[in-house]
Amino acid sequence: MIYDKVKYFLLKNAAKIAVLAHKTFDALKTRIKSCSSKYAIYQPAGAAGEYAKYACNFFLGCYGMCKYCYNKQGPRAGLLGKSIITLKACFKSEEHAIEVFFTELFGGNGGTVRPELQKHGIFFTFTTDPCLPETFPLHAAVAAEAIKLGVPIKFLTKFTGWLDSEIWQDLKSIPEAQEYLSIGFTLTGRDDLEPGASSNKARIEGLRKVHDDGFKTFTSIEPVKDPALSLSIIKECVGFVDLFKVGLESHKHYDKAVVTQFVNDLAAIPEKPTIYLKDSIMEHLDGRTRESYGDNFVNADSIS
Ligand code: SF4
Repeated sequence: MIYDKVKYFLLKNAAKIAVLAHKTFDALKTRIKSCSSKYAIYQPAGAAGEYAKYACNFFLGCYGMCKYCYNKQGPRAGLLGKSIITLKACFKSEEHAIEVFFTELFGGNGGTVRPELQKHGIFFTFTTDPCLPETFPLHAAVAAEAIKLGVPIKFLTKFTGWLDSEIWQDLKSIPEAQEYLSIGFTLTGRDDLEPGASSNKARIEGLRKVHDDGFKTFTSIEPVKDPALSLSIIKECVGFVDLFKVGLESHKHYDKAVVTQFVNDLAAIPEKPTIYLKDSIMEHLDGRTRESYGDNFVNADSIS
């Protein structure tokens, strides 16, 4: 796969100029909305809101071909579930997307970044994969400047080709990167359900690499398709993943006894990995709290 480094460096330059302009002249007041269609940064609602208080969507479409992809379901599937990648209609170009992003990031705050974004960070992304050859140059260019402003950036991906790109070499060389950039991979263990994505094995190796490079790592163990498989993946990744987010598939029936046993098995892992159980799991657990399974089971407030 070809990752366009020239495009990345041009976009990174555009991002630098945008930051300088906002630091000098920032006056345009903006608000962060819950709707994503007309903005770059927004506040996700529902299950997505459990992932992140703030997220950014620049693109639509993805060729991961995941059978369970939420973008291929519901009334907006025709728009969001495409296999070709396009910039959102509200952006005239990737340079324009950069302008919009930094206008929202500063928000007319007197030349400083919104404190809520410095506190909670920004998640990339819900409407495509952030690390495809088509999407990574823009995401990385924006991240390169945002982390210098102390804004935590989180990428969640199912692809690994970008780890060998010169774009990643540049991004990870930024002094603030280890502190402010977190890398996550989704792991279901079911390559057959994700035919367009990198294999789960490659993603696990990817996690190991970024951890060894000194970055914070997380995984999305979601959707849990086979609890025994998810359990074994978590055990395999314990030494190099900082946070496991675990959730069930929306609108699917799960046997309560199976879910209860799964969570008991997670609580019995001797290394006590940090685990966030999504609401889709909690609703099977008879009102028990996350903490009641151990100090390593965290609440949403401590991960966003
Ligand atoms: S990688 Fe993510 S966005 Fe792409 S098809 Fe799979 S679930 Fe959908």
